[in-house]
Amino acid sequence: MNWIKKTLRFSEKIKRIIKERASKDEIANSNWTSCCKGPILKKDLEDNLWVCPSCNKHHRISPRQRFDVIFGKNNYEVLKTPIPQDDPLNWNDFKSYKDRLKAARKKTGMNCGMMVVNTSILNVKITAVATDFDFIGGSVGAAEGEAVLYAVQHAIENQQPLVLFSCGGGMRMMESLISLSQMTRTTLAINELKKNNLPYIVVLTDPTAGGISASYAMLGDLHIAEPGALIAFAGARVIQGTVREELPVGFQRSEYVQNTGFVDLIVGRKDLREKLGTLLSILLKKNSAINSSENETSEHSRTLTKAAS
Ligand SMILES: [Zn+2]
Repeated sequence: MNWIKKTLRFSEKIKRIIKERASKDEIANSNWTSCCKGPILKKDLEDNLWVCPSCNKHHRISPRQRFDVIFGKNNYEVLKTPIPQDDPLNWNDFKSYKDRLKAARKKTGMNCGMMVVNTSILNVKITAVATDFDFIGGSVGAAEGEAVLYAVQHAIENQQPLVLFSCGGGMRMMESLISLSQMTRTTLAINELKKNNLPYIVVLTDPTAGGISASYAMLGDLHIAEPGALIAFAGARVIQGTVREELPVGFQRSEYVQNTGFVDLIVGRKDLREKLGTLLSILLKKNSAINSSENETSEHSRTLTKAAS
């Protein structure tokens, strides 16, 4: 029975190794993270705009980190968005939704998963929104829906473009139908933006999935994606199980989605500021041309009406 003793000793060893591994919180609070070549100092990654210098992986970043990178530190004003009642359905699974919200707020320092700012990019004044994946997986509940609506309203009131950095796994199941209704609300809000001839650019970041990609994230005048971002509606495993076929390499990544026509451009983080600025300037000129041609048309029709009477 020597082999039984050996197996038991081996399993004890494995248990000890697992126990000694750093916890998720310990890893999150350390100075290190990991990428293709193993551990990498967070400082080194930050100096490279949170992009791995070896494999070009665009690591997930918080809204503040993103705004610092794209708009510059202290070059944006954070707007306070409405926060509806917490946990309207009194949701409980193996943890209560109230506790999840409390933990997410503590972890991110944000009241909801989205941050709306008033800022400028290459002298173009804009409203911008970004999502924090660390806030319950970037999912969208009533508060996040309100944030999108607030951003649209702000853009319309100030007659400036809206740039939205999408991220998240979809609508938030703890808010059930309330979260699903945010798909309609945000879609209607984006329509208002378009009625006002204001540019709306979406930057798809990793991951953009579910109801997010089925609503406001796919309604932009232009869709820019960060390299290698997961952009999907349903998950790859679900699709593979349904179609019962091997999925192509790179399925649902930015480069694949660009080939299938859902993404216009793939732009690396270091080039995004300039690219956004240029595109917005072009779109704004185009918009002023549309407005002036509309004015000319209405002027023309007014003259015709006068002549007819
Ligand atoms: Zn890497």
